[in-house]
Formats: sequence, C-alpha cells, structure tokens
Amino acid sequence: MNYQEILRRGESFLKKNKIKNPFLDSELILSKVINKKREEILLNASTKVKNTDIKKFNKYILRRRQKEPMAYILGYKHFWKYKFLTNKSVLIPRPDTELVIEETLKYLPINNSKKILDIGTGSGCIIVSLLKERPKCIATAIDLSKKAINVAKSNAKLHQLENKINFINIDIDKYNSYNYDLIISNPPYINSVELSRLDDDVIIHEPKSALSGGLDGFKEIKKVIKKSKKLLKINGKLIFEIGERQKYRCLEILYKNGFFVNKISKDLSGKDRCVISTKLK
Ligand code: GLN
Repeated sequence: MNYQEILRRGESFLKKNKIKNPFLDSELILSKVINKKREEILLNASTKVKNTDIKKFNKYILRRRQKEPMAYILGYKHFWKYKFLTNKSVLIPRPDTELVIEETLKYLPINNSKKILDIGTGSGCIIVSLLKERPKCIATAIDLSKKAINVAKSNAKLHQLENKINFINIDIDKYNSYNYDLIISNPPYINSVELSRLDDDVIIHEPKSALSGGLDGFKEIKKVIKKSKKLLKINGKLIFEIGERQKYRCLEILYKNGFFVNKISKDLSGKDRCVISTKLK
C-alpha cells in the first residue's frame, strides 16, 4: 500500500464513521506515523508504507473513530504562537482562551516584572504563552491534578521557562501565598446541563474536572474570585475566562468581593469570554 492508498483508506473509514474532517485527520495521522511533513506525503504519493507503519496507522485511525480528539492522538496542539504537549490529563487548549492572553498583555507593560499566579494551569498554555511575551515576569502555576502539573512542567521546559514558573500540585483552597500582582485562570465553568450536551469528543475524552463548574457552573469561579481577593495585592488584577451566559452573575460575585470590573471582552464569535477585574480593597 502506498501513501495515497492508505490516506484514502483512512479517510473513507473515518467518513463512514461520521468523523468531521476525515481527509485532514487521515493525513495528520499518517504524517505522525511516518514522521514526514504533510507536503512530503502529497509529493510522494506512490511511496510504499512499511507494514509496521500500516499497523500503527490503523491503531490511530481506530482511536479517532472513538472520537478521541486529534490533539491527544498527535500529542500536541497549537495555541497562541506555540506548540503545547497534550494528553488526556489536560484540557486541550482552545482558540477562545487566546483572548485571555491578548487581554492580559494589555495590562502587562513589556518591561515590568510582575508576580503572577495561574489557578488550574492544566497544560500550562496560558502561563507559558504569557511569560514568553513578558520574560521579566515570574509565576506560580497550581493545579489539583498531579498529572496535569507534569504536562505543564514539560511545556514550560519545552519553551525554556522551567526556571521562571514554579509548578505546585495543590488545591486552590489550600494555597496561601500572598502578594500577587496578577492572577489568571481558565476555571471549569460548564454547568451540569450543558456538560451533558457537549460533543462526544469533549465529554468522553477530556478531563471532566477541567470542565465541570458544578450544578450552576459557578462553583470554581466563586472559589477563584474569593481566593484571589486574599492572594492579590491591592490594585492587583484578576483576569479569567467565563462561559457565554455567565457575565451578570460574575459581576455580582466580583462586586460582592470588593472587585472593580474593568472590562468583559467578547471572543471572536461575539460571546462574553474574558473578565478583567481589579481588587480594590
Ligand atoms: N470552553 C471550554 C468548552 O466549552 C470549557 C473550558 C472551561 O470550562 N474552562 O469546552
């Protein structure tokens, strides 16, 4: 079997199983298996595939048929300007979350050395991207999941930031280090009704603990706000991601906890997505 034939076979199998981008996925999987760029595959369509590679290819295609996201099959996902290692212990970085980076950078002048905390770091994509842009800052990144912390550490190393970010496997409730200039977070914020309606790719394969915000979706957001009130310096900023219908309740919780809300910005599809707030007292 040659490149073209195996690609077509992968494509038609995925298509039959109603996977959305069957040709692209088939191509990316072959590219991973034979360790060649997609362009090279297309230019060498009649090259034979080794038997061991056919077996590997089939294994990955079967995983994709089970709706496993490509980011887990390939082991990485692009976010902001970089490539991040991903596995099933971490939420796959989403384009919407790049808004958190964009907004945060506006409040972090390029030469400032600020002290940042990332709550629920997951793959570490937010804090790593930020520190790449603002190399004078230092950070702590915490996560309840030990496995997530390991992925985040690998990503920091991959991007030469292992000495700038301190990773700690701890529950936010138990974390008590003060005086941060900035706290960022993409907390789990999906409520239980919406959780049950998510795509199979997400709900079967991604870590529920990184998605579920309890019955009303606000369980973890509340924790982040309350804790940030304690851990931030006066005038420190709390910048975090929210779900599309969480703006008003979020405003309420922030005001109750002594925050000023600078802005709530919308993602590319016009949904409220990123809260920028300041601790007043
Ligand atoms: N935006 C993600 C999703 O809809 C959820 C991320 C989160 O809960 N923080 O899948």
